[in-house]
Amino acid sequence: MAALQSVRGTHDQLPEESRRHRFVEEKALTVTSLYGFGEIMTPIFEFTDVFARTLGDTSDIVTKEMYTFTDKGGDSLTLRPEGTAGVCRAFISGGLAQHLPLKFFYRGPMFRHERPQKGRLRQFHQVGVELLGVENPQADVEVIAMARHLLDELGIGQHTTLELNTLGDVESRENYRQVLVAYLQDHLSSLSDDSKNRLDKNPLRILDSKDEGDRKIVANAPLLSQHLNEASRGFFAKVQEGLSALGVPFTVNERLVRGLDYYGHTAFEFTTALLGSQGTVLAGGRYDTLISTMGGPATPGIGWAAGVERLSMLSQEAGLQVPEAARPIALVPMGEAAQAALLKLSGELRRAGLAVEMGYAGNLGKRLKRADKVRARLAVILGDDELAKKAATVRDLDSGEQEAVALDALVQRLSGK
Ligand code: ATP
Ligand code: MG
Repeated sequence: MAALQSVRGTHDQLPEESRRHRFVEEKALTVTSLYGFGEIMTPIFEFTDVFARTLGDTSDIVTKEMYTFTDKGGDSLTLRPEGTAGVCRAFISGGLAQHLPLKFFYRGPMFRHERPQKGRLRQFHQVGVELLGVENPQADVEVIAMARHLLDELGIGQHTTLELNTLGDVESRENYRQVLVAYLQDHLSSLSDDSKNRLDKNPLRILDSKDEGDRKIVANAPLLSQHLNEASRGFFAKVQEGLSALGVPFTVNERLVRGLDYYGHTAFEFTTALLGSQGTVLAGGRYDTLISTMGGPATPGIGWAAGVERLSMLSQEAGLQVPEAARPIALVPMGEAAQAALLKLSGELRRAGLAVEMGYAGNLGKRLKRADKVRARLAVILGDDELAKKAATVRDLDSGEQEAVALDALVQRLSGK
């Protein structure tokens, strides 16, 4: 009965979990709006080329993880594995260049065919930002500080470490590439097949390999930091100065390279020790060549994305309380006439903005139990006796105190409570 099971790596979120998920998203929206970011909603699928041409032929996403299909019109489409390529495609196809600089926030599902485990899903969700059109390292500082600000708002800033590196400019990477290839060529026979394949196409990617054997070789590889030109060193220094000025702690990790082809200069990750091996919660970097690679006007960009599931788990681990939904008023009718009266009342109360739970069935005790279960703060009890007196019993479910309230005064009384 495979059809009745959820697809491997997907997850149903029940209301309580969704509440935390939404909380994380809303916090991200609020914090980023303080920095002038506005929400962009791009489609969940794009032409396959949007990703295949930008993320890099040798990236894990393109080689192994994309959900690609041919639609009925014969086009090759892909469910978005990440947000940046779609935002840049929207920037180009919308002809938005005259509006630069632009600051976009996005949220929503992403799809990658990976091996599912805790914190690693095939449909997961991200919140992310892209800042387009600013070459100045101040943009890097602001975008990274904003990330830390969000983590602090979620109560997890102090449980993460900001790891920072520079990939330098195109010239620096070219210089380094030659040195790195020479080194790796000496270890060719011990490299994984994937890495052998990447040696010509994108040797820097090998630094990010998850293969044990590769990692041992990479551990002794020459470092990019020793091959940076002056401009790249200056840029990186400015980023570090800015972060220090803003009081954002970081550690330089010279071995940090991001898994996608389009990054240059700043690369960063916020990692945590609290989530086991899925320790990266938020990651990003600068991508000055991406938009021109896609055929758009040369436009610098910087951004990050965070996994909502990982942020949720971490915030829970750290004890962050998510505000609960408003406690309802339970309406408890006993008998047909009372039911009709309370049905009318339920409509009025809800339109007055109050949450109402109708007790549909069972004896008084059962209905009050249900009221408890939905965390009702008040119960309005109405039976034949009360109806005759034209007054309902209103019980405070926390204190147990109760009083009789005239039926025609109920809406006013309850909306005041
Ligand atoms: P990893 O090294 O863990 O595979 P990545 O480099 O592929 O991460 P990015 O593409 O940088 O991840 O995505 C940014 C963030 O999105 C990650 O830091 C993580 O929080 C989240 N994320 C990425 N892939 C998944 C996934 N399969 N399931 C859940 N969250 C994910
Ligand atoms: Mg990955």
